[in-house]
Amino acid sequence: MSGAVAGYREQLDAALRFLREGDDYLVVSHVQPDGDAISSTVIIGWLLGKLGKRYVLANEDEVPGRLRFLPLTGSIVQLPDTDHARRYARVVSVDCADFRRIGTVSQSFADGVQLLNIDHHPTNDQFGAVNVVRTNAAATAEILYDLIAHAGLALDMQVAEPLYVGLLTDTGGFRYANTSAHVLRIAAELIGHGVSGSAIAERMLEMMTMPQLQLLQRGLSRLQFTAGGRIGWLYIEHSDLAQTGAAGEDLEGLVNYARNVEGVEVGILFKGAADGGIKVSMRSAGKVDVAAIAQRFGGGGHTRAAGCRLECSLTEASARVLAAISEVLPS
Ligand code: AMP
Ligand code: MN
Ligand code: MN
Repeated sequence: MSGAVAGYREQLDAALRFLREGDDYLVVSHVQPDGDAISSTVIIGWLLGKLGKRYVLANEDEVPGRLRFLPLTGSIVQLPDTDHARRYARVVSVDCADFRRIGTVSQSFADGVQLLNIDHHPTNDQFGAVNVVRTNAAATAEILYDLIAHAGLALDMQVAEPLYVGLLTDTGGFRYANTSAHVLRIAAELIGHGVSGSAIAERMLEMMTMPQLQLLQRGLSRLQFTAGGRIGWLYIEHSDLAQTGAAGEDLEGLVNYARNVEGVEVGILFKGAADGGIKVSMRSAGKVDVAAIAQRFGGGGHTRAAGCRLECSLTEASARVLAAISEVLPS
């Protein structure tokens, strides 16, 4: 268990009670799920299975292709679905900073639903009846490792792989500042259980699909800099996806090309959504709290990686976000 933050043990106790005292759980995560979201979903499925509980795993969106090798991902259903009219009274939400991030899956919640909220985002608003929110955890998967240890359950390959993927993806391949000693100790233990770190890194980080590469080419051709080179930004229009055959998941990592340029404090990716809105991804080199910027526009995230959505044109969205960041750039 990491650190001796008062109350964490009690939070884990409460989470286990929540999982043990009911049945028929719905496990959900955030829309456009990333590696930590999908991993955490299947880890809770594994845990509920060990506790002898019935459960359904769900997401508003499809499981990204590169994550489908993980156990139990084939059973994640897309909700709402007209053939699946059930309403769930007990829900476990993982890796969601607020209720809205669950998306339309929440239409499958019963009135008076009891929610267990397990997350690591500093902007988490404690929307559950039971909350395990640990902002110094690198990934929700790290909290779930602690939860499994707290339950006294032994790890096996079924759960070791998703635990590893959650840690790997949310630390950018064990490179970001959230890569703590605890994270690396867990990763070492998981490799000891038979997880192939190199095979997972190849699949998750190295491999590119052709559409992904074509999207990258388009994005880089539009990369531009403002505020004396301290803001780097690029955009992808919704039509770029259809034209390259790329999926939404292929946008992941693109924002880093803006952020990684020498001298850049904030990198931004503007993505045109199907309905005309603009999704904004922001990454900070460390001096600017991009979660605070995202919150000003109704979004959230972490100090160094955050996002929001604006209901306007790309021109207006970029003008507003660039102005907000320029205001807080250190002189
Ligand atoms: P992304 O740029 O989509 O990879 O997201 C970076 C971080 O910001 C993640 O931790 C997300 O959970 C968070 N985030 C992204 N978009 C939103 C949003 N619209 N509302 C709240 N948090 C968001
Ligand atoms: Mn996530
Ligand atoms: Mn996460």
